[in-house]
Amino acid sequence: MSSIKDKYGSGRTVFSCEVFPPKKDQDIAPTLSKISEFSDIAPDFLSVTYGAGGSNAGHAVEVASYIRNKIGIDVLSHITSVGFSREKLEKGLKTFEENSIENVLALRGDRPSYMTDEEYNSRDFYHASDMASFIKEKHPSFTIAGACYPDKHFEAVSYEEDMINLAKKVSAGCSFLISQLFFDNDVFYRMLDNMKKHSIDVPVSAGIMPVTSAKMLGTTVTLSGTSVPKALSDIIAAHGDDNEDMKRAGVEYAIRQAEDLLSHGVDGIHLYVMNKPELAREIFASIRN
Ligand code: FAD
Repeated sequence: MSSIKDKYGSGRTVFSCEVFPPKKDQDIAPTLSKISEFSDIAPDFLSVTYGAGGSNAGHAVEVASYIRNKIGIDVLSHITSVGFSREKLEKGLKTFEENSIENVLALRGDRPSYMTDEEYNSRDFYHASDMASFIKEKHPSFTIAGACYPDKHFEAVSYEEDMINLAKKVSAGCSFLISQLFFDNDVFYRMLDNMKKHSIDVPVSAGIMPVTSAKMLGTTVTLSGTSVPKALSDIIAAHGDDNEDMKRAGVEYAIRQAEDLLSHGVDGIHLYVMNKPELAREIFASIRN
């Protein structure tokens, strides 16, 4: 069993990327073929997203298993507790074990639109930390990671409250964290300072997303709630409608962000490249030595 946690520390930066599985009714072959292209990029690990409520679950395991067992890259499987009973989680974890998947990102997930108030409010795991405690107790061999939010999670009434909750998540068993994407590094550094004040002492990978179109930035900001610095909005204003120039400028912005993070000794860089290995190849070629 290889634990991703062991990759952090001793002065090296952990480089990782996020990919997503196809929808249940879609052919999986094109996704697997695309993901194979990460092979020569050799990230420290790939993380595989999971649809809240269990949608895409079948393909998520297949994709994670392919990465781990066919390509030979370590994998971090996301798992969302919304819509999961204890029994269903147990079954899911057993399938992971059968596929040699031993690293999980424990997430609550967002409420799916089809879920009734009653279903949502009577869920077995209220927060990601509840699921992390359960996994730690029942499957101590698993390595558990958690999510953190440089801009604060949108439901938390205050930044302070979000930090207190993050500390609970770490105490529950999350041994490293991956941040929500952000475009302003100062927001990330402020979160690290606050984590120290709350004695949260686990490695944190910084989430970076290369913005390659104006439309993508709009969707990203809506989903993540992160702020857009003037330098990035200037890029959008200058290149928004030009695909090639916008892509180039977006990748260069991500590279500058990553270089600054590396100069501050960040534990890890997690690229939200979403099944675009060509973007990861370009960014890692610039920042990894
Ligand atoms: P939680 O940790 O449960 O936090 C949710 C809210 O509850 C926060 O406001 C927090 O302050 C509060 N809280 C937390 N713990 C406690 C506690 N013990 N007591 C009281 N309050 C508490 N979504 C998907 O559907 N699929 C994915 O694959 C996916 N991948 C993601 C990967 C990363 C790196 C990140 C950052 C997010 C990802 N998301 C994904 C989105 C995520 O599911 C949402 O942001 C969701 O709203 C919160 O999930 P969480 O695990 O952070 O929840």
